[in-house]
Amino acid sequence: LQTQLRQAQKMEAIGTLAGGIAHDFNNILFSIFGYTEMTIDIVPENSPAQRNLMQVLKAADRARNLVQQILAFSRESNQELRPLRIQPVIKESLKLLRASLPSTIEIRQNIDEKCGSVMGDPTQIHQIMMNLCTNAYHAMLESGGVLLVSLGETELGADETIYYSNIEPGLYLKLSVSDTGHGMISETVERIFDPYFTTKEMEKGTGLGLSVVHGIVKSHKGHISVYSEPGMGTTFHICLPLVKKEPTEQKPVSEKLLLGNG
Ligand code: ADP
Repeated sequence: LQTQLRQAQKMEAIGTLAGGIAHDFNNILFSIFGYTEMTIDIVPENSPAQRNLMQVLKAADRARNLVQQILAFSRESNQELRPLRIQPVIKESLKLLRASLPSTIEIRQNIDEKCGSVMGDPTQIHQIMMNLCTNAYHAMLESGGVLLVSLGETELGADETIYYSNIEPGLYLKLSVSDTGHGMISETVERIFDPYFTTKEMEKGTGLGLSVVHGIVKSHKGHISVYSEPGMGTTFHICLPLVKKEPTEQKPVSEKLLLGNG
């Protein structure tokens, strides 16, 4: 509990402090990208100037990733939860990943089309997918492997939820992301949700990805768990409470009732 409190406080501080700065910083980055790309087009091919400008773009890209994660913290306070079918969101994320991951990584999916809806924010669900799958990709960078994304329904009974903080027994949507990468030792697993904890070199890691995921899952009243074995791979399970009825176009009153749970 002590750890959870410390983490919640840290995240709140990061959210408030950095959210505003990150937003302005994003606009500055926009100019850096724009002008650098324009200049790359007019300097001679393969010149030292062009190589230097490519480095500027690379650095700006890292900054953009960092800013995006920080913005995700501050966005938690104004998230828009609505009855949401997650399947299309997951498929869209997978499409993007298929286009950007190397062919040494095989992407498999096992999506149950019949799963019900959750109260969710599609942008945040997409963010969860991108953060988990990017980590999976990094873990398989050297040897390649399989990334498996599954979606199904599951029932959590009182005997299970008693071990999970603040979630009710009932029907849940279960999103699992597995990789066959390098895995983690238990000392690493214990710290992965801490903001700024990273084992990656500066170029690749911000240490914010999983704390963003953790924050989003909590704000969706869900639960996240991780199983990892060094040399074998890692699986993340995320359970989000299913809404009892299919989404309707009705008055906001019924939506309020659904939101009011907890
Ligand atoms: P970052 O990816 O920027 O380091 P994260 O919060 O996303 O930050 O992850 C924290 C750490 O957790 C990573 O540096 C890595 O050590 C570990 N980790 C996360 N996902 C995986 C995975 N799928 N396989 C192995 N290690 C992982």
